[in-house]
Order: sequence, then C-alpha cells, then structure tokens
Amino acid sequence: MSRFFSNKLDGLQPYVPGEQPRDRKYIKLNTNENPYVPSECATSCINTALLEELRLYSDPTCGELCQSIADVYGVEPQNVLPTNGSDEALAFCFAAFCGNGVVFPDVTYGFYKVFCGLFCAEYEQIPLNHDFTVEVSKYIGVGRTVVLANPNAQTGICLQLKDIERIVAGNPDNIVVIDEAYIDFGGESAVRLIDKYDNLVVVHTFSKSRALAGARVGYAIADEKLIADLNRVKYSFNPYNVNSISAALASRAVRDTRYLKELSDRVIATRAVLSRGLTELGYTVVPSLANFVLAKSPTMTGEQVYCALKQNGILVRLPSEPRISDYVRITIGTEEQTDALLAALKAIHNGEL
Ligand SMILES: *Cc1c(COP(=O)(O)O)cnc(C)c1O
Repeated sequence: MSRFFSNKLDGLQPYVPGEQPRDRKYIKLNTNENPYVPSECATSCINTALLEELRLYSDPTCGELCQSIADVYGVEPQNVLPTNGSDEALAFCFAAFCGNGVVFPDVTYGFYKVFCGLFCAEYEQIPLNHDFTVEVSKYIGVGRTVVLANPNAQTGICLQLKDIERIVAGNPDNIVVIDEAYIDFGGESAVRLIDKYDNLVVVHTFSKSRALAGARVGYAIADEKLIADLNRVKYSFNPYNVNSISAALASRAVRDTRYLKELSDRVIATRAVLSRGLTELGYTVVPSLANFVLAKSPTMTGEQVYCALKQNGILVRLPSEPRISDYVRITIGTEEQTDALLAALKAIHNGEL
C-alpha cells in the first residue's frame, strides 16, 4: 500500500476472482460460466454499423435494453436499471441502501463483505443451518438491509418464493436485495413481488444462464422509486455504465427466451448426472438449483481434490469460507466435460492418477 491510499479504506480486503489461467487449456469448472455459446440472435447483431457506433457514447438510459427486460419480465422500463455486470447493480445497492448496516449469511457470495468494506457499511453474518439452508426466521425484522443470494452462492440451495416473500414482508422498513444470479437453473424468481413490495430489489446477471459473462451486463428490478435511488448513485459514478455493444447483445439475448430454456434444461440435466456420479463415488453433494454443485470427498480434503484435478487439467473452485473448506465447488460443464471430470475423480480415488 502506498502512503497515499485513503485511510478510510485501510482494512479493505478485495474480492479474489476465480482463476482465469492462460498457461494451458483446462476444463474450466471453477467460475460458473455457461459451457455453451451465447444466443445467436444476440451475437449476430455485431456488425460494422454497430462497431462504427463506438464513436458515440452509449445510451446512458439503456432505453432499448430496459424495454426488452421490461417486456420479458412483465414490468415497466422504469422498474429496470441495467448495469456493468450484476456486481455493479449490487455495488449501487450497497452504496444507496446500506447506511444502517447489512445482514447476509456466513456462507454466500464473497463480494458482499467487500462492498461493505468499500462503502463503509457495518455487517453481520447470520450462520446457515447445519445442512447449509437459510433459517428464514432469523431474517424477520432484522432492522437492517438484508442481502440474500437465491439460490445461494457456494451452496446452490434455493429458498422457495413464499419464504422470500416472508422475508420481504417481514422487513417492511428495510431494503431486501435478492441476488438471483442462478435463478434460471430451477428456482422461482421474486420479480413478480416487486409490484406488491416497495422494499424489494431483485438483481439478475447475463453472466451465467445467458452465457455472456464477458459482456458484463446485469440489472436490478424494483419499485420505480428504488430504481430512481439507484440511478442517483449511477449518475454520480458512471453514467455510461453499459457499453453500446454489450447493451445491444443483452437486449437481444434477453428476448431469446427459447434459447435460455434450452441451455438451462441442458445444465439441469447434466447437474443430475454429475450429482449422481459424485454420490456413487461416495461424495456428499449439497442439493443444488444452480449451475454448480458443492461436493465433499469421502477421503480427501477439498484442497487435495482441487490439486489432483488441476494436475489433470480440470479446474474447480476451492471455497475460501472455513465452514466449507472440505468441499470443492464444481461448475456444471458440457456433458463431455462432466464425463471427463467423473472419470478423473474415479481414477484419483482409485490411486491411478
Ligand atoms: C456470478 C455472480 C454475480 C456476478 O455476476 P456478474 O454479473 O458477472 O457481475 C453476482 N452474484 C452472484 C451470487 C454470483 O454468483
């Protein structure tokens, strides 16, 4: 740290992204990307005319993208704020709504803690139950902003919509942020509650189910007044937050609901194959509604599994939370990648690799 670094941020612990190695070709199952290509309806929009438009600033209102998202989710454009990845939507929420502190689970998306550090918000981590489920009753009347990933990051466990509604209704004077990065892989979205509750923000991303992680697009959906608050933060930070190419891609991708279903169905089917295969090898598998599973070897530590797989060209994620350090988190890949992973694990456990 240089002597110029702000005192206020002394203790800031930045987020550590999953490895994106360039040294060799890995079967990459560590950062929950989609193994399939993005919608062709989306990528076919990239032509010379669009590239020449790069001369101009992008539309700060993201009007076309807002309209597309609004049409698909049955809301109004003024209920939508597109952002540079959903991480930015979350950052705006922390900046706008977390003045009186935040609560989130002890095992969840690691960025929440980082945002508290950056925006100087106090936080409390509420422990998950022993089976890693969220104890809904602990989130009623907390008197602070609630942030929940649903399905939860790291575990893949998903709360039912009625439980989400209990939490939103149980904190009428505080904001509840539901981060639905993985909702398209089998969960039920809380978007339709936004008409009924003025304290709910739902955050989505194009990075996972829509296979556009590199385009960096996400969005918040909420009551019009909350979106106005988030826009106030956005226009105080980066008015042109979504570049014109990504906005065009995302606007088309979101309308291609048939392709979304096709990809999600494939991931869900492969998740069942992977979970079954791991269970047959004696692994403990946390029941997931996301595009990853958290799994624990019967004989090896998480780090041993991670290292053995990496030596054999397969990357998985070793979680940093102490409570799940015996586990590895495995992204759902293609059918072939999943077969290769299961074959490698079998060989590792038989002492052949
Ligand atoms: C991947 C992920 C995000 C961030 O997604 P981007 O849109 O790529 O910034 C947010 N929340 C959770 C829980 C995630 O897993």
